[in-house]
Amino acid sequence: MAKLEIRNLRVAAGGKEILKGVSLTVSSGEVVVLMGPNGSGKSTLFQTIAGNPKYEVLDGDILLDGESIKDLPPEDRFARGVFVGFQSPVAVPEVRFAFMLQAMLNIRAGKKLTDPNPQALAQAQKIAAELGLKPDVFSRGVGVGFSGGEFKRAEVLQALLLRPKIVVLDEPDSGLDIDGIAAVGKAIMELSASGSGVLLSTHYARVLRFIKPTRVYVMAEGRVILEGDEGVIKRIEEVGYQNYFREIQKELA
Ligand code: ADP
Ligand code: MG
Ligand code: MG
Repeated sequence: MAKLEIRNLRVAAGGKEILKGVSLTVSSGEVVVLMGPNGSGKSTLFQTIAGNPKYEVLDGDILLDGESIKDLPPEDRFARGVFVGFQSPVAVPEVRFAFMLQAMLNIRAGKKLTDPNPQALAQAQKIAAELGLKPDVFSRGVGVGFSGGEFKRAEVLQALLLRPKIVVLDEPDSGLDIDGIAAVGKAIMELSASGSGVLLSTHYARVLRFIKPTRVYVMAEGRVILEGDEGVIKRIEEVGYQNYFREIQKELA
């Protein structure tokens, strides 16, 4: 069993406090959904989990299986089994996608970066086919000429290949066609069924056709303001965030 715990996290970037005390958890076998209006801090949280040095932790902690990873460099967090897929991944033209996958697997296995792993490539090709990703991505530079949908599928491919303890995906359903959403949704359920804990953000209830969330958190202005179930996602889709916030305020009052 693995558990990622975000404990009262306060984070600043660009000289401004963005996260103002965020707490949440995700454990093996769970699919946890994070929602919230644009600018509420979802990507900031995910970048902070990944260890992006632009995001300064002011207070609180990030624990993996009870141990703080807050001060570890990104590669050590990854080596311990925390994989973070980004909302807007960047291209790395100098590195072939196949080489990057091999290097990631080697880091996870505690091997040398360049140790060959032909079985992994064969497995990656099989996963790519299931995700509807063209085989030529492997010989291209990472992200070079990837469409939005290819970026998202490529991140999910990495998760399926690596089977991390914790998988964090920032809007994995954005910019995908319906087949892509289905494939990504299926992959998310497969990851959780095989023991990964999945934390993802989304803006859309349509993803519920393919995933069954364990828990839903809603963020606003740098705080988690609500924890609920998939009914929350459906209601937000129906009425929008601002109306939803008014509704729950009435309920709470
Ligand atoms: P979300 O993913 O929920 O849309 P973000 O985490 O991307 O929200 O952004 C939250 C707020 O933090 C926004 O106001 C955004 O402009 C600000 N922000 C995010 N990253 C940075 C940064 N590196 N420097 C300055 N401000 C940032
Ligand atoms: Mg956004
Ligand atoms: Mg975002």
